[in-house]
Amino acid sequence: MKIGFIGLGNMGAPMAHNLLKAGHTLNVFDLNAHAVQSLAAEGATASRTPKAASTDVEYVITMLPAAAHVKAVLTGEDGILAGIAKNVTIIDSSTIDPASVKTFAELANQNGNTFVDAPVSGGTGGATAGTLTFMVGGSATAYEHVKPILQAMGKNIVHCGDTSTGQVAKICNNLVLGITMAGVSEAMALGVALGIDPKVLGGIINTSTGRCWSSDTYNPFPGVIETAPSTRGYTGGFGTDLMLKDLGLATDAARLARQPVYLGALAQQLYQTMSTKGAGKLDFSSVIKLYRNEGDA
Ligand code: NAD
Repeated sequence: MKIGFIGLGNMGAPMAHNLLKAGHTLNVFDLNAHAVQSLAAEGATASRTPKAASTDVEYVITMLPAAAHVKAVLTGEDGILAGIAKNVTIIDSSTIDPASVKTFAELANQNGNTFVDAPVSGGTGGATAGTLTFMVGGSATAYEHVKPILQAMGKNIVHCGDTSTGQVAKICNNLVLGITMAGVSEAMALGVALGIDPKVLGGIINTSTGRCWSSDTYNPFPGVIETAPSTRGYTGGFGTDLMLKDLGLATDAARLARQPVYLGALAQQLYQTMSTKGAGKLDFSSVIKLYRNEGDA
């Protein structure tokens, strides 16, 4: 297939690489010329604008930081909608708010195109290995149409329902994750303050009812899980600022839906505090530092 790919960052670059590996033909664009050159060296065609990347293709994929970037790339003078042929499907894999997805889908529709939200989980490791989970929002027909393309980049391609439900799934999952990480941090810090060995406590939680991904895979207390970011100084995981962004999407969506998110709002403030303290780039499990003396965790 001929595909336009826009947004070649930490996630987009390896995803584009896997599409090339699967035999697809790619037009690529990013504001970062170096990222474009790297993909061009692998056989992609470098484009000067999103419009050029979207011309003469069968699909367009965007993997951008936030909704404002997707809007600019979609509707700008040299944007996707200015260059795309009718019936070409646009797949947005960025994590953005469900309300924006509906607006973008409407704009695409007016232009004769289908817009599918397909955010991912699995991180940069999953993007590199081609094992991402895609949460797809759109009609059943649109889902079947995009599935073979997404399979070149992911292992689980899940149809979540109509337009924007892919983003709903993504932000609700990360809402749980942000809350459970704060909960495990609180319990681990309390247990250690009360005198229990952190490995013993972690082991008990991980074989008891408190078990969750935040305790058994990314346990925030250093040394409890050898492969967790906490054990390597909170590096190489899921950044606090990214978690903060996703909790912001959840609380914004909750406000629009007039739905309470008591714990999500509190968790958002905890990660906000960490970010303000300069820990935005550290793994989000570093939130445990709020419960411990500086340097302890
Ligand atoms: P990133 O910041 O590494 O990459 C974004 C890329 O978009 C950059 O290369 C940037 O130059 C480019 N860009 C920005 N504005 C642009 C524009 N107007 N035109 C063209 N290119 C533009 O971000 P990332 O980590 O690759 O994440 C991308 C999306 O995926 C985000 O929405 C993020 O929340 C989501 N996500 C990230 C992860 C992760 O672990 N990094 C996991 C799941 C989902």
